[in-house]
Order: sequence, then C-alpha cells, then structure tokens
Amino acid sequence: MNDPAGKAPRFPLRLDQVGGQAPAPRKELLRPQAPLQQAHADAARRAAPSGLGLDSADVRRRMVQRLQAQGLQHEAVAAALAEVPRHAFVDAALATQAYEDTSLPIGLGQTISKPSVVARMIELLMRGARARAASGLGRTLEIGTGCGYQAALLARLSRQVLSIERLKPLHDKARENIAPLRIANLRLVYGDGMRGHPPNAPYDSIIAAAGGEALPPAWLEQLAVGGRLVAPLQEPRTNRQVLVVVDRHEAGYEHSVHEAVKFVPLKSGLGG
Ligand code: SAH
Repeated sequence: MNDPAGKAPRFPLRLDQVGGQAPAPRKELLRPQAPLQQAHADAARRAAPSGLGLDSADVRRRMVQRLQAQGLQHEAVAAALAEVPRHAFVDAALATQAYEDTSLPIGLGQTISKPSVVARMIELLMRGARARAASGLGRTLEIGTGCGYQAALLARLSRQVLSIERLKPLHDKARENIAPLRIANLRLVYGDGMRGHPPNAPYDSIIAAAGGEALPPAWLEQLAVGGRLVAPLQEPRTNRQVLVVVDRHEAGYEHSVHEAVKFVPLKSGLGG
C-alpha cells in the first residue's frame, strides 16, 4: 500500500496521513564503510564472550541459520547477527535463552525484541534505495536503545549510529553492555526520542523500537531525502501494531505497511 507523493502531510503523522511535500533536498556524501566494519569485526573477535563460553559463536550461527530458514536473506545483516553476543545484553539468568527467537525482559517493563523482528526491521532498512546504493545504512538514528543490542547490530551496518533512550537506568545499562565491545561509531544519548536528535540530522536511516499512534513529525523532518524509516505504528481503528516503512523522496514521503508486530509503547518525555 503506497501513498503517492504530493499530499501535504498533517502533523503528527498517522498511518493514513503519510505522504507529502518535502523541504529543499540536501545532498550527502557517503564514505565507504568497509574499513570501519572490519575494525568492528576485529574488535568483536577480541572481546571475549562471557556467560555462554566459547561456543556462543556456534549457538549464534545456529540462530542465524534458523532466521535464514524463516526468510532472512541479507548477508550483511546475517553476519552482524552472527557477531553480536546477544547473551551479553540480557541478565545472566536469561543468557541461556538469548539465542531463542523470543523477546526477553530487560527491566523497567521493557523488552529486548526477538531476533527475527530485529533482523526483519534492519533488513527492511538495508533494502532502502540509499542503503542499497551505499551498501550500508549511513547515518542511523535509533529510538529506544533499551539494552543496546540492536544499536550494536546497527553500528556494524552504519557509518554512524545515534541511539536515544528515555529511561536513564536502561541508558546506563546499555552503556555498560556496549563498553566491552568498543564500538567507536555508536553514540548513546539519554533523551526523548520523539524529538529525534536535531544536531546530527539528517539521518539516512531511522529505526524505532517502540510504537505510538502517530509517527512523530521530528522523525520525518530529520530523515534525509533518499533515506528510509522503519517503525512500529498503531493502525487506525484496530488494536493492531504494524511495521511501517517510510521513504523520503525529493517530492515527498512514500509509505508501505507490513506485518503486525508487538512493541512496547512509545512514550514522550523522560522517565526513570
Ligand atoms: N532496541 C532495544 C529494544 C528496547 S525496547 C534493544 O535492543 O534492547 C524499546 C525501548 O524504547 C524501551 O527501552 C523504552 O524505554 C524506549 N522508549 C520508549 N519511548 C521512547 C522515547 N520517546 N525516546 C526514547 N526511548 C523510548
């Protein structure tokens, strides 16, 4: 279901209102990402996995094989999932479940999304026109850092990632989780992600891990022309949350609606 570009968007945008005029286009140069990605791969190899011992890489590989059997196609996304130690982002008591396809509690009523949903959303981002052309996500904004797992994956596929969390204890925990991985191109920000993060805008890729009834206008404004946004969104009139993809073109925004999902609510302001 695509909206033709050219309708003026009303803010805040709801699922039935996406589409419209864009301000003047901006040009951005994308630098090659391979050296950075190599550096991350090396760093991940150096960081000893904890909790599951040395065979955690095998367990992860099996998780990726299962995701591929379910439809994951993108090689770089699969490689990132095979590298990032998901067990290091959850409580030690839950580590044995870390490579099952299930969401897990991370405290304060929040959850780490299940791997198949994380894989699906990042794959949707990677299929955007600019990401395909650049073989990477470029400058990425994540709303909802949570434990930091998805941020670590995004960093392997992006030139730069900025991830925002509104709950201070989770922001702090994500910092702790990320530190041993030494991810140089990931910045964690404590703040209200509904406002996006204007200082670093525009973003080639925007991904939200929490869903509301409308897409905050700041996200659409801060999406680069040629960029793509993937977010859960409440469907009007039903209680379903679905994945939406928004592409920004010079002439306006185009959106498509995908499968039903279950994300924690997007909340405004700071908490905890
Ligand atoms: N990507 C995370 C998933 C965390 S769950 C992971 O890999 O663990 C979603 C997170 O979004 C929660 O931590 C919640 O606190 C956060 N959140 C909800 N509304 C937000 C907002 N307005 N700004 C920033 N974070 C928000």
